Parts: sequence; C-alpha cells; structure tokens
Amino acid sequence: MSRSNAPHGDSDATAPHGLSPEAWSPRTLAAQALGRIDPVTRAVVPPLHLSTTYLRDPDNAYRSGFSYARPDNATTREAEDVIAALERAEAGALLFGSGMAAATAVFCALERGDHVIAPEVMYWGLRRWLQQEAPRLDLAVDFVPMQDPEAVRAAIRPGKTRLVWIETPGNPLCTISDIARISEIARAAGARVAVDSTAVSPILTRPLTLGADLVMHSATKILNGHSDVVAGVLAGAHKDAFWERLVAIRGGWGAILGPFEAYLLVRGLRTLPLRAAAQSAGALRLAQRLSTHPRVSAVLYPGLPNHPGHAVAARQMEGGFGFMLAIRVAGGEAAAIDTAARVRLWKRATSLGGVESLIEHRASVEGPGTPCPPDLLRLSTGIEDPDDLFRDLDAALTGAHGSTA
Ligand SMILES: *Cc1c(COP(=O)(O)O)cnc(C)c1O
Repeated sequence: MSRSNAPHGDSDATAPHGLSPEAWSPRTLAAQALGRIDPVTRAVVPPLHLSTTYLRDPDNAYRSGFSYARPDNATTREAEDVIAALERAEAGALLFGSGMAAATAVFCALERGDHVIAPEVMYWGLRRWLQQEAPRLDLAVDFVPMQDPEAVRAAIRPGKTRLVWIETPGNPLCTISDIARISEIARAAGARVAVDSTAVSPILTRPLTLGADLVMHSATKILNGHSDVVAGVLAGAHKDAFWERLVAIRGGWGAILGPFEAYLLVRGLRTLPLRAAAQSAGALRLAQRLSTHPRVSAVLYPGLPNHPGHAVAARQMEGGFGFMLAIRVAGGEAAAIDTAARVRLWKRATSLGGVESLIEHRASVEGPGTPCPPDLLRLSTGIEDPDDLFRDLDAALTGAHGSTA
C-alpha cells in the first residue's frame, strides 16, 4: 500500500532502534532525532534522500511506502516525526514550504460559507492574507481580542463557525490567549481550534494537550533556529477527515518542504530544547532589566508579573515564556527607529527565533491597520550573553535622538 496519503508520526516513531515518545523526555527525543539508525549503513545520522522517484516492485506495488516525492519524502518525514513526537500529535505532522503555506492550507481546507474567528494580534502576513483572500474563498472572518475568551464566545455564529485560530503569544505584542478555555468554547460550538505556536515551540507549550485540534509553526523560526531554512508545519490531534483533507491539499497543491531543508531542520531540532531554554532565560533577563530603563516606557513580555496574560501564561507555558518580547521607547516613533539604527550587536532584521538576536520596528513593516504602536520595537532574543545584549541596547536607547523629546 502506498503511504503517500498517510504520513504518520505515530507508528514510525517505534521503528527499529527508534525511541518511543512515551518513554523519553522531549530533550532526549530531540537530541537523538528519535534515535533512528539507517538500516543499510547503520549511520546514526539518517541520510538525505533526494530521489524524486522510487522503483516499483515487480507486481507494481510500492512496498517501501514511497512512490514520488511531491506527496511524501523520507527526509521530510524524519523531521515531521520529531515534531509530531514533541507536539504529542496523534495524527502526525505535515511539513510545508513555508509557515504561510502551512497556515493557509488550514483555511483552504474549510468549506465555502464557513465562519472563522481570528485574533486581532497575529502574524501580520497571515492577517493580511485573511483580509485579502478569505472573501475570495467565501470565508467570513472576524478578528477579536483573543486574550478575552468571552470575546470568542460572543463572536461564535452557531452552526457557521468552523475554526478558531489562536496565536499565543501574539506576534508582536506578546498577547496571551487561553488555549484550554477557548478550546472548550469552540468545541461546544462545533468549531476546530488551530494554534500558531511559532513564538513558543513545543518545548514551552503543547497546544494539542490543552484541547486544540491543530498546531501550526513557522519552522523558519525557532524550530530550525539557525535562520537558514524557510519551512512550515501542521501537527494534528486526530487523523480525521479534516486531517486527510490537509494531506490532500499539501500533496495536490504541491506544497511539501524539500528534503534538503528538512535535513537542516532535523539538525536544528536536535538542539531545540537547549536553545528554547537559553533564549527564554535571556529574554526574561532582558525584560527584567529593560523594565526599569528610563528610556523604555513599557516592556511587553508574558514572563513579567505585571503582564495582563501572566497568570494564563504561567499555567499553559512550561520552562519559560519564550524568546520574543517588545519594548515601547519613551521618546516615541523617532526614538524607536533611531534606537534600532544604533545597535551594534543586535541585528536589525526581520524574522524571529534564530540563535542571533534581532530587533525590528514593526509599525513601519506592518503598515496601515497594524495594532502595533509606532514607538514599539520587537526583540527576538538569541543565545548570546544576555548582559551583552542589554549593554548594546542600553547604549542605543541612551544615545537615540528623540529619547528626551
Ligand atoms: C514568520 C511567521 C509566520 C510565517 O511563516 P513563514 O515561514 O515566514 O511563511 C507565521 N506566524 C508567525 C507567528 C510567524 O512569526
């Protein structure tokens, strides 16, 4: 039987020499990329499979399970199985050519006339896609303050709402949404819940164990972690008809991640737990030091006790509050832009989650309609010494023109 329509992270995880996800901690599973050994050479690093096609058996069957590389690929599946084990995803995981390809597949799997509830604070590229493309797909989308579960309840259209899309922490304002409570509200209304978990990774939050049906990541960010792969992933709680539709969309629309990127992604995933811990610890230290800085009017970070989502974050996040934070610069927009111009260690660049720290003025990237205040800078904390990161930012903030305006 061809496995091309049935990628599975579950059964393969116990392949020869593989580590069973039930028996070992995430750190161990990641470090050994599930402990798989190449059956031909006994290599401890699985090979990179570049072949686009596979030999048929004499009776025309494909007993290896592989037939053609658009629906499925062995190297891509290695990365999917690691992510599925970390997310505890019963249905497995599906890698796409980008985070946007993964996210938009979910909306494209809905039916015409369906209603979607999405957050006001979310990845701007997906918000813009929903505003521009959802009407063409005949989907109705309401953007709500997802930090308030009652706003989700109020937005439900009985019999029509089919998907609630959560992003927590929300990029870039670090808003926290309660996955368990929103999932209860959605389930009672017959709607699925999908969570964009890019800003935390499965090391800090496992949405499927909190009641969500799907989890999505831009694997471009901390999953790969080295700013050299563009990738996206969906992981599913149930192998149901909706999941099969996502498998069909990826295969039919040709959106799979290539094997070379998947190989690099497996390599990055091996150190994900260490990076996630170090980057969270660094972000917390920066948030604490910046919160008393005279040129900073606010620090947005769920690890700070004064953050409005701190209690929920402390409940649904484990081992840290993530690498992303935002600051509002006391001197306003000009001072914020000038601060970003003056950093030397931080890199003035878009994206998130890499080992190198990045700083960006988001309002000018997101343009009109952004919920981002003009004085806001988004910080993605890498693995450098957090005190070096603070020193560089302190000098930039202190020297910035407009700071004393
Ligand atoms: C970057 C990002 C995306 C989009 O991912 P790409 O890999 O760039 O397509 C989606 N959601 C969040 C939260 C992101 O940060």
